[in-house]
Amino acid sequence: MSTSLRTDYPLPTAPTYEDVVAAAQRIEGFAHRTPVLTSRTADARAGATLFFKAENLQRAGAFKFRGAYNAIARLPEDARKRGVVAFSSGNHAQAIAYAGQLQNVPRVIIMPHDAPAMKIAATKAYGGEVVLFDRYKEDREEIGRRLSADRGLTLIPPYDHEDVIAGQGTAAKELIEEVGPLDILLVCLGGGGLLAGSALAAKALSPQCCVFGVEPEAGNDGQQSFRSGSVVRIPVPTTIADGAQTTYLGSRTFPIIQALVDDILTVSDAMLIDAMRFFVERMKIVVEPTGCLAAAAALNGLLPAQGKRIGVILSGGNVDPRALAGFLTA
Ligand SMILES: *Cc1c(COP(=O)(O)O)cnc(C)c1O
Repeated sequence: MSTSLRTDYPLPTAPTYEDVVAAAQRIEGFAHRTPVLTSRTADARAGATLFFKAENLQRAGAFKFRGAYNAIARLPEDARKRGVVAFSSGNHAQAIAYAGQLQNVPRVIIMPHDAPAMKIAATKAYGGEVVLFDRYKEDREEIGRRLSADRGLTLIPPYDHEDVIAGQGTAAKELIEEVGPLDILLVCLGGGGLLAGSALAAKALSPQCCVFGVEPEAGNDGQQSFRSGSVVRIPVPTTIADGAQTTYLGSRTFPIIQALVDDILTVSDAMLIDAMRFFVERMKIVVEPTGCLAAAAALNGLLPAQGKRIGVILSGGNVDPRALAGFLTA
């Protein structure tokens, strides 16, 4: 395991840790400062001291609120008046809907017509205008472009955006400020917004800390990209980690990950189910499948952890109760 910064890739210029600090000031009082949870049972299982950053308890149920709020807060006044648009079937949509509501910014969310009814309802409940599309016949990016052109809406992507990355980095910043320096930080990985932001915070506040991204075994595009040095695209992976069904890392997230992250690990769906069960049984918390990625790596001994202080981001808690019941009784 390397403990120093990689020098074979130049550090990208933006965002920087200073942007994470500015984002933290912007979201203060709006995003929850989520608790850091510990468990002696988890420590015994991992052979390490684990600090779980509980973003499953964040507003709208996931860390995505941080980046969404920051990105909307950074818009100039005229763009705020016109509004924002996002396309997502998951946590980013709810985060934009809610963060926009709190800042009085009109928001349009483009969602597949066959998205879970619960997610469509939750997005509408935050006052977002929902535009449904047929994902087999229509192109959501085309719909997004048309809406931005016609109505002057600003598109806010789920991860490949400087203000989104900076916002996501505030969770790791809070974690390290609260518990002190870490040996290892484990972060759930989809398109890399959370990992890039977390790495900026970790390397600034705890320079010796090794940072690992953890993604589903079935969708290891991040691992392939990291190890080969260029972005690898894969078909949509089949995994219960629906928040990590991304097929490639972003053009803004990848350079930061290359420069600051130590490696990318993968976990199986069976490990995610086992971790979800662990959190309900032992720690009395609901963590969605994608939110268990980082924890599953620690609980299954996938890295040399003995005696280490390990930060683990629990990235979200949005799972349909019926689906959760199925996972727990499987
Ligand atoms: C979006 C999401 C991720 C992945 O985040 P990226 O920034 O795309 O890497 C992980 N967990 C949850 C719960 C998410 O909603």
